[in-house]
This record gives sequence, structure tokens and C-alpha cells, in this order.
Amino acid sequence: MAEKRDYYEVLGVSKNATADEIKKAYRKKAIQYHPDKNPGDKAAEEKFKEAAEAYDVLSDTEKRAKYDQFGHSMGPQGFGGGGSGFGGFGGGYGGGMSMEDIFAHFGDIFGGRFSGDDSFGGFGGAASARPRKHVNKGTDLRITVKVTLKDIMNGVDKKLKIPKLVACEHCHGTGAKDGTAFHTCERCHGTGYITTVQQTFMGAMQSQSVCPECNGEGKVITEPCSYCNGSGVIKKDEIISFHIPAGVEDGMTLTMRGQGNAPRGGGVNGDLLIKIQEEKDPELIRDGNDLIYNLMLDFPTAALGGSAEVPTVDGRARLKIAAGTQPGKVLRLRGKGLPQMNSSVRGDLLVNVMVYVPEALTDAEKAAVESLKEQPNIVPTKATSQRIFSRLRHIFTREESGK
Ligand SMILES: [Zn+2]
Ligand SMILES: [Zn+2]
Repeated sequence: MAEKRDYYEVLGVSKNATADEIKKAYRKKAIQYHPDKNPGDKAAEEKFKEAAEAYDVLSDTEKRAKYDQFGHSMGPQGFGGGGSGFGGFGGGYGGGMSMEDIFAHFGDIFGGRFSGDDSFGGFGGAASARPRKHVNKGTDLRITVKVTLKDIMNGVDKKLKIPKLVACEHCHGTGAKDGTAFHTCERCHGTGYITTVQQTFMGAMQSQSVCPECNGEGKVITEPCSYCNGSGVIKKDEIISFHIPAGVEDGMTLTMRGQGNAPRGGGVNGDLLIKIQEEKDPELIRDGNDLIYNLMLDFPTAALGGSAEVPTVDGRARLKIAAGTQPGKVLRLRGKGLPQMNSSVRGDLLVNVMVYVPEALTDAEKAAVESLKEQPNIVPTKATSQRIFSRLRHIFTREESGK
């Protein structure tokens, strides 16, 4: 990454600039490099982002103090949001900051919410005190996607038809006929806000408010688009493809930025929020990354040893059963569980062994069981029982019984 410029230099203010001077300087830069005014201009976009980054830090008393002390060297962690909820900035500024983030967090600079009760916002500078602003952003779309254990095991590609609001192609989302039947608002000169000077006990204070002429759009439509009735959006079914990564869990939400509804009159699309719903498997129980299977063994197999078939996510597997396998024993198939998301860690398949005791017997069967009881190794001694209990987990012990 290129050498970072000093934040004060970026905004063109002195080190001891007041909060108000910083705000003004940022607003000036933001308007100058605003993408609407510099369409397709990458350099302007970078300047726009750079200014937003500088403003984020310098407008926050706490971040500014840290920056004054440590400069850029303290890394992104130090600027990781605090109370202002800038989750999207945690990954570091500059490259990690999207235009949507900037509009979502600093859009107030353009939309003008510095009016009225926010007149004193410039003094405190605390991000948390800044009201959330109105950005022309489309609404989020929410869908639920069902996934099987197999999908969770391997990850899965999904393709869905989703009805949503998209920008009208006849007017390019402007709502104006052919995308051209509008003129720049004369009252605000296209900025979308107007400046008023208020007298307060601290002297004259400048504040901005949304331009009532154009509702902050900066333009006035002279003839509405007939395809979308001037709204700039139309309803459309869109095919959306996305990948659900391996290891997802029930209730998780994946976010697809900008795949939600387009806003009326142009702006930033909302997001598509994909909620994961895990379909219950008829045989396997999920426990985090592990899977559990309850295996019912017949007494002869448990006593003599042999094999048993168990289900796994990828099909059936045969399991060796040792002679003398006790009910309550847990057999572990390493790595046959689910993967952890974004990791090479894999869970296990735990086979919980139970031994079937017949519930109804014929006379002949009864006689056979009776005769078994006569054999010396069929009925456990006290010592045998203790030895087996000590090997099994999930057996009540004196400590666990609470006495
Ligand atoms: Zn239209
Ligand atoms: Zn206006």
C-alpha cells in the first residue's frame, strides 16, 4: 500500500483545527470529489475515500487524540469503530472502505442533517452523538435458504430467482424521462443541502439542512419517466447465484452487498441477507462440528464382536465392533464430522452405542435366555461392574450425584 498521507494534510487543515473547521474542510473535499460529480474518475474516488477516512478519525475526539499521539503507525485496530458501530472499517482503512460504507456513515455531510438539534455537533465531534443520516439506500432483501448436512459438509452453490426493485433502465434510475429530463436544483446548486446561519449563545453558527426544493436530490425532474412513473425503479425477477460456504450453521446470515432493492430515485442498492436454515437429518444429530449417531447393537454382536453400519454425511460406513462392547460406549470416527467455516478444522462422528434388550420374547427365546443366565460369564460381578463403570463416561458418580 502506498505511503499514507497525513490526515490533516488530506483535509487541508492545521493540527489545531477545531471540530467545526474539520467538518467544513471535509464537506468541501467530499463535494469536490463526490462520485456523482466525477463519474468514472478513479483518482477522484480515491481522494473521496481518503477524505472520508481522515474525517472519520479527526471528527472523533478519541480517535483524533490517538492519531495525534501515534500517527498511522498504530494500525487499524485502534480505529476499529468504538461506539460508533463502524464494523465495516475493522479491516483497515483505505482499501477496506467501500463507497457504500462512506455513504452509510458520512452521508449526512451530503444529505444535510446538521440542522436543528445537531447545531452543536461540531463541538463534541463524538461519532455516537451524530444522528444516523438519511442515505438514499434501497431496502434490504431477506431470504431463507435451506441446506442439508451434505451442503454444510461441502459448501453449495445456489441459484435463485428473487423478485426485487431494480433501477429503471429507461431513465437509468433517475426517474426523469430518458434519464435527461431534469435540471440541477437552483436553490441548492445541486448539492442537495442549504446553509443557514443561526445565532446561538456561542455566536453565529452555520448549519446545513436538506434542500426543500429537491428533497436533497440536488436535481428537479421536469418530466417523469413513463416506465417507472418517475420512481426510478421497477419490479423485476432476478436470478442470483451465490455460494454457501462449508461449515455454516443454522440461523447464520450471509450478506451480499448491493444485491437488495434499488432505492427510488437512484442511489445505493440495499443488501441481500441470506439466512441459513439447516434441514434436520433423519439420522445424524449435529453438535457444533461434531455429528452424533445413536447406534442400537444387538446383544450377540456386542458380546461377540463384529461390525455395524453407520450413516455418515457422504454415505454409509462400516464400523468394527470389538467383542464385549458396552452400552454407553462412544466410538469416534475422526474427521467424519462437519468442517468449521473458513478453517481446515473438522469435527468427528460420534457413535453412541446402545445395546438392545428384547422387549417381547417367544417361549423358545425365553428358554434360550434362561439357559444363558446359567453360564458363569453372563451375570456381572461387583468388580466387573465397577471396572466397566470406570471406563464409561456419562455414568453417575458420587461427586455428580450431589452428595
Ligand atoms: Zn424510469
Ligand atoms: Zn435543491
